Amino acid sequence: MLEVASWGRLRSVPHEVTRPAFLDIARAAVRPREAPLLCYGKGRSYGDVCLNENGHLIITDMLDRIIAFDAETGIVRAEAGLTLDRLLRVIVPQGWFAPVAPGTKFVTLGGAVANDVHGKNHEHAGTFGTHVRAIGLARSSGDVLTLSREENAELFAATIGGLGLTGAILWVELQLSPIRSAYVDTETIAIGNLAAFFRLAEESREWPYTVAWIDCLAKGDGAGRGFFIRGRPAEKGTLDVHAGRQVGVPLDAPNGLLNARTLGLFNALYRRRPWVLGARQMHYDPFFFPLDAVADWNRLYGRRGFFQHQSAVPMRNAFETLRKLLGLTAEFGEGSFLVVLKLFGDKSSPGVLSFPLPGATLALDFPNNGEGTRRLLDRMADVVLAAGGRLYPAKDATMSGQAFRAGYPAWRTVEAQRDPAIMSDFWRRVTADAA
Ligand SMILES: Cc1cc2nc3c(=O)[nH]c(=O)nc-3n(C[C@H](O)[C@H](O)[C@H](O)COP(=O)(O)OP(=O)(O)OC[C@H]3O[C@@H](n4cnc5c(N)ncnc54)[C@H](O)[C@@H]3O)c2cc1C
Repeated sequence: MLEVASWGRLRSVPHEVTRPAFLDIARAAVRPREAPLLCYGKGRSYGDVCLNENGHLIITDMLDRIIAFDAETGIVRAEAGLTLDRLLRVIVPQGWFAPVAPGTKFVTLGGAVANDVHGKNHEHAGTFGTHVRAIGLARSSGDVLTLSREENAELFAATIGGLGLTGAILWVELQLSPIRSAYVDTETIAIGNLAAFFRLAEESREWPYTVAWIDCLAKGDGAGRGFFIRGRPAEKGTLDVHAGRQVGVPLDAPNGLLNARTLGLFNALYRRRPWVLGARQMHYDPFFFPLDAVADWNRLYGRRGFFQHQSAVPMRNAFETLRKLLGLTAEFGEGSFLVVLKLFGDKSSPGVLSFPLPGATLALDFPNNGEGTRRLLDRMADVVLAAGGRLYPAKDATMSGQAFRAGYPAWRTVEAQRDPAIMSDFWRRVTADAA
């Protein structure tokens, strides 16, 4: 048995593990067993969607080959354990980029499909799953199926955002986006509050990439103060890939370096950095993946780990809901280092359980301070549900079954398509009390 954790490091749980290096071996590993199965990519999910306590984990990171790549059309087919990191090294020099990139490049294609991840360009490009042309899926019945919008369409829709429950994804075929350079023309603008965020977001509709970093210590009229960043692919520049240099965190920070005491200092320093403001050209790596510069930054939260709240709320009440969420954070005194705010557009995903909905999404990290943090997360979940929103399973470790099912009323469609040999801690948690 191997102890395995997810990115939030809230707990390490024992699993039997298989780590296949070839698709044939992976396929053979997907069979009924005494304990339930689950695939695990790079464990960049924060909570328990990638955990299966006392079960069997198929760790896919050695399934990392590109099967076919057409540099004329930008269609790539690759094994499910390939990371965006490795994919970008191959495709960028050929003038192609990931159509959707989450905030870290250390995710696998299988993980990106199973959580139907989104990036800074949701309003323009939708989710990752929107660009998936086909999936190779192994079921515990021994079947290996090709899924697409035309073939096995229902299983395709259940697999995109299907949290790994419908089978083991062996390969993914993806339509890439063309680029002329590896650089992004960016502008960073200071915003004084939430109203300024919404104004600027509205004015920036032509910009494919937008995101805001918020100072969660700001209260009252200043709530939502921070930086708004917008970007578009540069027309000129070289097609150089990321260097891959990372600073490491060799040890767990003893009591957590990121705590309420250091938070104020961090935010004050960040606010005083005038050089971040204005227009500049940035390489895609620091623009899309700034946190990847520090390997294992999750260890800075110490041994008790940390939570993330990420919710999506409909546009009609986004302003009020965000004010309430930020207000709750301030009230509980549980400051967050990383507060990211962005808008989602109305491009719908083929995925049944896809997280984004037209509106706004807020993501906050909280050090694990035990009961107090859990109470805050519950209160935030209540606010989100009352607003007709939902929480993101990829980031979640605490939502109740009721909260999940209210946010994802189509969950039974995925349950009906779930491979009977597969289960996750997340799914057990949110479906256990379902009638
Ligand atoms: C710093 C950071 C920034 C992030 N930013 C974003 C963001 O901007 N947008 C966003 O959407 N997400 C974001 N995330 C979350 C991350 O993109 C997702 O959790 C992603 O799914 C992780 O991929 P993974 O390969 O590590 O999968 P894992 O976390 O290992 O697994 C995720 C799910 O995929 C399933 N799975 C994995 N491989 C397979 C397979 N081969 N077959 C079937 N199921 C499989 C697992 O069972 C699990 O349910 C971020 C995470 C981090 C750490």
